[in-house]
Amino acid sequence: MNKPVFSKLITCKHCGRKFKAKIENKKRIYVCSSYDNYGKNSCERNAIEENFLKGLVQRRFQREMTDEEIRDVIEYIEVENSLLLEIHLKDQESIMLGRQTIRF
Ligand SMILES: [Zn+2]
Repeated sequence: MNKPVFSKLITCKHCGRKFKAKIENKKRIYVCSSYDNYGKNSCERNAIEENFLKGLVQRRFQREMTDEEIRDVIEYIEVENSLLLEIHLKDQESIMLGRQTIRF
C-alpha cells in the first residue's frame, strides 16, 4: 500500500492532537490519536477515509493528482467529524465540508 498521504496534516478539532493513519478493512483511514491511544474517555474516533480526502482535493483541482501533488497543496486539515472538516490549502481558499454544504 502507498504511504499515508495525510500523515501529520490532520488535526482534531476536539482535542487538538494529530490524527494517525491506520489500515482497516484494507482501507487507509485516519483517526484521532487521543482516541486511538487512550480510548473513548479522551476523545472521539471520527474516522476519515484517505480516499475520501483525496477525492475532495482532486475535485477542487479538477484533475488526477499523485499522492505527492496532493501533499504539496495542503497546509493542514481540521476535522470535527467525518462529515465536518476543513482542508486548508496553500495560497488558496479552503475546502469546507459542512453539514449541508461543500465549498470547493
Ligand atoms: Zn481528538
